[in-house]
Amino acid sequence: MFSRRSSPGASRRGFYLIGLLIVIAILFILYGKELLPDKTTGKSTQDMALERSKGAACTANRQALSVQITAWSLNHSGETATVERLRQDGVNVPPCPEGGVLSIGADGHTIYCSIHDPAPGDAPPAGSTSPPGPVVPNIPSGLGM
Ligand SMILES: [Zn+2]
Repeated sequence: MFSRRSSPGASRRGFYLIGLLIVIAILFILYGKELLPDKTTGKSTQDMALERSKGAACTANRQALSVQITAWSLNHSGETATVERLRQDGVNVPPCPEGGVLSIGADGHTIYCSIHDPAPGDAPPAGSTSPPGPVVPNIPSGLGM
């Protein structure tokens, strides 16, 4: 009687163990694919996601700076905004998350990043992805800019 009861329990435990091992193997395979480098770029999926997020953060920082330039321009009509001039006036110029140097174009409101969006004429750094484009503030009409 006891031998009949223990036999199905042992097979059930064996089934759970095999199922658990299969699930762990599937998780290792899926996670391993994320860690393996892409064949075209040579970068892992996580590295590419990190680069994209830093590029997006840089774009957001430049958009925030463009708003500050617009506000600064309201108080300094006729003056051309530069990063140095903004810092002198206490404007918080946000940094590029990858250490790029922000610059303001000759028009006074187009913001470039040396890594993510180099100014025309500046060569993009080797290995950089396609730039998202310059950030130009949306200046309301009638401000004479
Ligand atoms: Zn940048």
